[in-house]
Formats: sequence, C-alpha cells, structure tokens
Amino acid sequence: MTSPSRNSPTATDVRSLYEGLFAAYGPQYWWPGDGPFDVIVGAILTQNTNWSNVEKALESLRLAGVWSFGAIRRTKRKELAMLIQSSGYFNQKARKLHEFATLVEIDFHGSLDQLLDLPKSDLRARLLGVWGIGEETADDVVLYAAGKPSFVIDAYTRRIVDRLGWRVDGERYTDYQSLFTERLPPDAALYNEFHALLDVHASRVCRPTPMCEECSLLVMCQTGSSPSHSG
Ligand code: SF4
Repeated sequence: MTSPSRNSPTATDVRSLYEGLFAAYGPQYWWPGDGPFDVIVGAILTQNTNWSNVEKALESLRLAGVWSFGAIRRTKRKELAMLIQSSGYFNQKARKLHEFATLVEIDFHGSLDQLLDLPKSDLRARLLGVWGIGEETADDVVLYAAGKPSFVIDAYTRRIVDRLGWRVDGERYTDYQSLFTERLPPDAALYNEFHALLDVHASRVCRPTPMCEECSLLVMCQTGSSPSHSG
C-alpha cells in the first residue's frame, strides 16, 4: 500500500480534508437513530449491507416488541434471525445481538448506561470482547452511542486516504486510525462529523469509479490530479 511517492499528511492537511468535506456536504447529524439502543443495534446490523436494509430490520424488531437488550436476550436466536433477515448475514448478526445483550444484561445488570459510562479504553476493550464485534463496530458504539472520541475507520475511509496519496504506516485498522487521531484533538463531535462526511463523500463522489471532475478535494488529491485522471 505504501509507496515512496506518498506523503505523510500534516495536521493542516487532515483539517483541510475535514473542512473541504464539510463545505461540500454540511452537517450530517449522525448517527441516524433515536438513542444508544438504536445506535448499537444499527452498528451491528449495518456491517456488509446498506442502511435501508438496516432500517427494515430495525422496524421489524420494533414492531415485534424486541426493543431492548432484555427483550433481545429473551428472544430465541432463530426468531431474532428471522426478524433481522433484511440486513443479511442474519444468523451471525442474531448471535452478535444476543452476545451483546448478554454483556449488558449479565455483566452490567441490564444497565446500558453503566456499560457506556466506562472509560473509553475499558469500554472499547469490553466491546471487542463480545463475539463478532470488530474494531469498526466497537468504535461506532464508543463514538455514536457513548459520545467518546474514538475515530471510526471503514472501507470508505481507507479508500479516500489511499486515493489522496497519504502515507499510512501499515495496513491495520489502527494504522489508519492513528493517521487521524495523531493529527486531531480527541473531540467526539469532530470525529462524529468527520466519519459521517467521509462516508457521504465515498458513497456519492469517491465511488469505486471516482467522479474526480465533480470532487471538491481534487486539488489535494494525488489520484484526481494524476495524468490518467486529468486526461
Ligand atoms: S479527486 Fe477523485 S480520487 Fe480524489 S478524493 Fe476526489 S473523487 Fe476521490
């Protein structure tokens, strides 16, 4: 991934990326949902699918009255899987929801607040200890449900960083995360908006085939300003 032609971005470069995206798209008001329960269930269901499929699954859980971690835990896993079928990988996701519900119900006596009140690194570690919860989902929960500054990395963010030509010191999730956290203050509101803007940009403009002519980041992008893209 790394190449000699890539440059390590400065804090100003990272800030310029944020400002360019914010100027282009404005505030995104993430996370779409009414509270921590919606956010957590949504974060688990959104892996490998689009948000409209998640919304259908959330609605189906709500209509069935499975709308708390206690209710999730009391629901048979097969039944839970059927309720969230629209989100894909429903057997795995039903297990993840059950395991998460067990963490809340058993280790935190049914108090989601108690779990979310843990210090950031303890909370992240507890989340990563749940079967099937990876770093991206854990950071979604830490940032969007607990309101603590953990920068979320997803495939969209990696794509944009790579195309900008920014050097990342490795391929791991934490390598990409450090690129942001080492150059930004630990500000949950900023991380919240930044991640949302990166996702919007990757889904609308910096798509698998990028629409560089329409991109507000063109002047700062190695890919967009390369001869093969500028024609
Ligand atoms: S200029 Fe092209 S490759 Fe670069 S960020 Fe914009 S759309 Fe993506």
